[in-house]
Amino acid sequence: MKKIAMFALAASVLCGCAPKESDTVKMITEATFPPYEFLRGKEIAGIDVEICRAVAQKLGKKFQCETVDFDSVIPAVISGKADLAAAGITVTEDRKKNVDFSDPYVKTGIVVVYKKSNPFKDRDQLKGKKIGVQSGTTSETFVTDELKQEPDRSKSPAEAVAALKAGRVEFVIADIDPAKNCVKGEEELAISDFITSEEYAVAIKKGRPELLKAINETIAEIKADGRLEKWVKEFTEEADKLKEK
Ligand code: GLN
Repeated sequence: MKKIAMFALAASVLCGCAPKESDTVKMITEATFPPYEFLRGKEIAGIDVEICRAVAQKLGKKFQCETVDFDSVIPAVISGKADLAAAGITVTEDRKKNVDFSDPYVKTGIVVVYKKSNPFKDRDQLKGKKIGVQSGTTSETFVTDELKQEPDRSKSPAEAVAALKAGRVEFVIADIDPAKNCVKGEEELAISDFITSEEYAVAIKKGRPELLKAINETIAEIKADGRLEKWVKEFTEEADKLKEK
């Protein structure tokens, strides 16, 4: 495959023509974020995967999905390694400087995960405390920018929650759905109400209006015909079952 791609590139350089548009839509994600993306054995499954698969279908192209650390998701579309970045990515003004966002497909936010023996009551309580977050996320910027302190960074919400259980951090901040998944079946843990209000969207390299249009049309369709709602329900149930195992 790689050889063929290199040959195509060399051929296009030699003949001076533009490389042919790929027949595959490549999605980049970070598969530790249930129910939006998680590993079902070796396969990446979840709401975001279905959204991107539907975009590929609309474009009449094949579909591929790869998982990397969350910090590397947006850089992968900027560099052209992938077409669609979907990983429960919150639309932020900062990120908008580097990528284009589709219309949002969910309204959500971050919450505090705490031990019932150390209940979370209000924001002031977080000041000066050891707080676990997933690296590169809006939870991290909440701690650095709003609380003006350094968080304890993990690779996934589950890893951050493991640090909470082990007593290495006092609170964890994470997006509500993976947080709910993490506390499933954990009697000692609970989650707070939203402490922010956020929206998820698909991120793409700037300057791809056709692709953006196809994503927005797909999002409108899956919202209107009930597919999105069905995926949310199905993947939440599946991810919860996997957690319980
Ligand atoms: N929504 C959060 C963000 O965009 C977390 C996303 C994630 O960890 N996959 O930063």
